[in-house]
Amino acid sequence: MATVYLGLGTNLGNKEANLRTAIYKLQERIGKQVSLSSFYETAPWGFESDHSFLNAAIGLETSLSPIEILHITQEIEKELGSYSDRLIDIDILLYDTLVLQTPELTIPHPLMTERDFVMKPLIEIAGNVIHPTREKTLSELYQG
Ligand code: AMP
Repeated sequence: MATVYLGLGTNLGNKEANLRTAIYKLQERIGKQVSLSSFYETAPWGFESDHSFLNAAIGLETSLSPIEILHITQEIEKELGSYSDRLIDIDILLYDTLVLQTPELTIPHPLMTERDFVMKPLIEIAGNVIHPTREKTLSELYQG
């Protein structure tokens, strides 16, 4: 069994309902939820939009491989996004202490430590987890 941490973000429609639906689907298809952060309202990052985001992080215990997880998260993004391009974005942040770099998947997520909207929820549930390439805890890496 591995512990995988995912970051979730949504900025359209009923954002809380979007997160709850995604979380329900993730638990059903990836594995048992071991931790869930609060939901954080954050400003749009990297592009202009009138819609603020709602972000969360979740930890799941899984027997699936990272690539299997990616395919499931992409499937869930599609299912939820049927009314618009991008109702929800799900990123794979950490998978145990795995370091992986393939064209399809980079773990740890390369931009995670630079993004407040990822780190705020993540340190709430995984502050003591050591980032496998930076060799510090997530709390030490993020002094937000
Ligand atoms: P984005 O549009 O920013 O959500 O990026 C989606 C693309 O990033 C997908 O096609 C994935 O193959 C790729 N990707 C690479 N690393 C990751 C990761 N750790 N989590 C999610 N997607 C990833």
